[in-house]
Amino acid sequence: MNYTMMHEHMFIDLSVIKKSDDCRLDCKEETIKELKELYKNGVRNIVEVTNIGIGRDIKYIQEVAKESGINILISTGYYKEPFLPKEVSTKTIEELAEKMIEEITIGIDGSEIKASIIGEIGTSKDKMTELEKKNFMASAIAHLKTGVPITTHTTLGTCGMEQVELFNKLGINLKKVIIGHLDLSGDEEYIELILKTGVNIEFDTIGKLSYLSDEIRADILTSLINKGWEEQIVLSMDITRKSHMQYLGGVGYNYLFDTFIPMLIERGVTKKSIEKLLRDNPNRILNI
Ligand SMILES: [Zn+2]
Repeated sequence: MNYTMMHEHMFIDLSVIKKSDDCRLDCKEETIKELKELYKNGVRNIVEVTNIGIGRDIKYIQEVAKESGINILISTGYYKEPFLPKEVSTKTIEELAEKMIEEITIGIDGSEIKASIIGEIGTSKDKMTELEKKNFMASAIAHLKTGVPITTHTTLGTCGMEQVELFNKLGINLKKVIIGHLDLSGDEEYIELILKTGVNIEFDTIGKLSYLSDEIRADILTSLINKGWEEQIVLSMDITRKSHMQYLGGVGYNYLFDTFIPMLIERGVTKKSIEKLLRDNPNRILNI
């Protein structure tokens, strides 16, 4: 099956700024347990979108990869305000790009582990701050130099079009860009406008029912597939909290396969379409 989940965290620490220990995802044994189940569901690659300043931990990830048998792709770059480390303010755009290029071509923190993607780089709710714009511009330089894809965070789906417009202005091939969390907009017309630019979009907050029901997610996704957009859509769960994990009663990573995919099949989505979202599109975007 060779599936890829395109937007996940195995370890992330947003606990200080969010003032909640739940936002430190550090339950390694539970993560490995769930990933072994993912392997049984056909997952062979996971894109780990934790980057600089939010707890990226190469050693931790290597252990999880080794124990689970799943290949985990590492990210470079910076997230969004207020989670940007100080260097995003103090360094120039070129210096920030240089660091990303080094992580992509040489290795991360003196290791030989290289970053495969730039992201998740994000914007705030309804606005792109100056620092976030700086981060996007540095990411664009690193992308143009290395060719690795860019994956983004939109806050509740807002600013997706602004992100695309900026990438366009910076001369980026939109086929190598994924705009994240767009399902949270709950707005099919808006998502379609973004798809029309040629960019890839992500349904990656599946199971986050306090924001949007999965019935609505599945309805919108099915409709987009029926309209022929399946080549530009990828899927993930974006697990970021301990309470998202099964051992604390959360949905867990496997909810995508146990619950959400069956909802799509129930709506008439074919296996071939699902394989596009989970295998062919990730392979094309990531050059696997
Ligand atoms: Zn995100």
